[in-house]
Amino acid sequence: MNQLTRESQRAIATHCPYCALQCGMSLTVTNGKASVAGNDEFPVNNGALCIKGWTAAALLDHPERLLQPLLRNARGVLVQAGWDEALEAVARALSSTQTRYGRDAVGVLGSGSLTNEKAYLLGKFARVALRTANIDYNGAAAAGLRALGIDRGLPFPLADTTHAEVILLDGSYVAETMPPVMQYFDAQRRNGGKLIVIDPRATLTAQAATLHLRLIPGTDAALANGLLHLLVRDGLIDEEFIRERTEGYAEVRDTAASYWPERVERLTGVPQAQLQQAAHLLGEAHSAMVLTGRGPEQQSQGVNNVLAFINIALALGLPGKRHSGYGCVTGQGNGQGGREHGQKVDQLPGYRRIDDPAARQHLAAVWGIAEKDLPRAGLSAYELLDSISQPGGIRALLVVGSNVAVSSPRAMHIKQRLRSLDFLGVVDSFLSETAQLADVVLPVAQWAEEDGTMTNLEGRVILRRRALPPPTGILNDIEIICRLAQLLGCKDGFTYESAEGVFAELRRASAGGIADYSGVSYEKIEAQQGVFWPCTSAETAGTPRLFGDGVFPTPSGRARFHAIRHKPPAEEPSPYYPLYLTTGRLTGHYNSGTQTRRVNELAQASAEPRAEIHPSIARRYGIEASDKVWLETRRDAASFKVAITASIREDTVFVPFHWGGAQAANRLTSAALDPISRMPEFKICAVKMTKVIDE
Ligand code: SF4
Repeated sequence: MNQLTRESQRAIATHCPYCALQCGMSLTVTNGKASVAGNDEFPVNNGALCIKGWTAAALLDHPERLLQPLLRNARGVLVQAGWDEALEAVARALSSTQTRYGRDAVGVLGSGSLTNEKAYLLGKFARVALRTANIDYNGAAAAGLRALGIDRGLPFPLADTTHAEVILLDGSYVAETMPPVMQYFDAQRRNGGKLIVIDPRATLTAQAATLHLRLIPGTDAALANGLLHLLVRDGLIDEEFIRERTEGYAEVRDTAASYWPERVERLTGVPQAQLQQAAHLLGEAHSAMVLTGRGPEQQSQGVNNVLAFINIALALGLPGKRHSGYGCVTGQGNGQGGREHGQKVDQLPGYRRIDDPAARQHLAAVWGIAEKDLPRAGLSAYELLDSISQPGGIRALLVVGSNVAVSSPRAMHIKQRLRSLDFLGVVDSFLSETAQLADVVLPVAQWAEEDGTMTNLEGRVILRRRALPPPTGILNDIEIICRLAQLLGCKDGFTYESAEGVFAELRRASAGGIADYSGVSYEKIEAQQGVFWPCTSAETAGTPRLFGDGVFPTPSGRARFHAIRHKPPAEEPSPYYPLYLTTGRLTGHYNSGTQTRRVNELAQASAEPRAEIHPSIARRYGIEASDKVWLETRRDAASFKVAITASIREDTVFVPFHWGGAQAANRLTSAALDPISRMPEFKICAVKMTKVIDE
């Protein structure tokens, strides 16, 4: 444990608390004030930070930071309480709920921002201490696992992108959300490379592209099939790779045959000439990458959309080829690690399936319990929230590090559900919109105040070193979870000297799994500037590039094509709701904005959400730049100031989702779930827009 005080002047290498890039930064405390700078030695961001990273230190001594537990009193007011009293109240409520309604009446929601150690421990806490089936978080990825046998964000270091002749990027606007990535895309372009961006909006990323395919929202799979059709028709596929390394191609080829260019133009709105250009750029390149972001994934056809793009990568023989492959651009800080180590409802540590008998035996042995006592898969994040107070549903909920009252689709409905809980416990540093509804709020140490590992979008396990101690009297999540487990009667299995002690157990738990961390250690991470999983022994350095041996970790050893047909989103425009609504991020904010809305520089840069609309739509509705619009969907309505911009499609409105209450974009979004990943359709719904007339 380091001996730093909050007065230290030594720069400590750590990482940004926000997105999946996990930029390296150094933190210095001078006269009690923390500041950060980019860490030139960390190879992912090479010293660059975005505005969120630069201002992250403001969270540490923020005046609104919670420094004492809060307990709701008999008059319904949250008042300060001691730790013993607060923790006992949580344990008592969870325990009595389970006695009365059964074990699965208690739910646990984690977060894509928790370290691997915390995500692992929260999964263990839910399954061993609470023995509930209902633990999840708001992240998912299923396509990579199905097609390639593994889901690891990028299968290569980000730096490889600079050497790809062509990159196809669907539904990710990295220039806005993780700007340091653009150093690689800029270098790729300087090297003569081409970037093809698929997005309904002309984002900064799309503006930097060689070719922008501006598709109609929800037509990703049709577009992918159309590209595959042209690749097959024009003889641009890698037949040897398909024959030797894959299975299921014939059905996919037959399906793609019905996606001829005229039809795809009609379905997607992308001109045939652009389809042709994209297919030939991809098919004639010596190296190419197919990357998908949250755009295609956060749809009710999300898994199918991604599988359709993986089909392109397989048809071109990209996985395992030099400077080539398929990758997923994850968004949340530890969205990747969070699902690898047991925080996901259907998974156990090491990316094991919870319904796999061998995986269950392995984890039961690591945790010292009988396999029969290990719960099965329960409800996914949205289903769990929607089940609250319904017959057989959740009655008590513990939320660790997420703000579901803002980040869930149909947010006002979910807020009502949260209000109807018998008990809500929230672990957070700030009084988020979810914490405001809680019966007990437990304040917690922040990113720079504790050790822990994160897994970035490359599958690189990085180490956030504790740079300064938390404020007096603040516990970290690991201490909170362990104390709760002990209060719930688990005397063994929840005592750790440090985060590194939890990591040592995580390594054992993950050994032999797909996401095998058994050979990763804190020392190795520091010596190598991160370790790419799988890393199966102390002697190996890890696996920066996957599939180099041509073998896929599927039952047959071959990658699997999936025949995908275009299906429309759950909601399409209609006479009453004539436009598409899509949601997303801004450069200056992160997720539900619990942290970033409290940072002055960020709040000033983007003080409120604005509805982006096209100039022609503005003219048609008689809307001017200073006006507000009323957006109404089948769930709710909200008003927003407009931003008139030609970067949006004429048939689409974009609203960022970082705000709560009256300004919450998620009041409007659809809770239609992907049938496989259970991911809600955040990206598309039908909306009616009217101009707000001031009285
Ligand atoms: Fe880097 Fe993301 Fe942090 Fe910005 S928010 S500094 S891109 S990790």
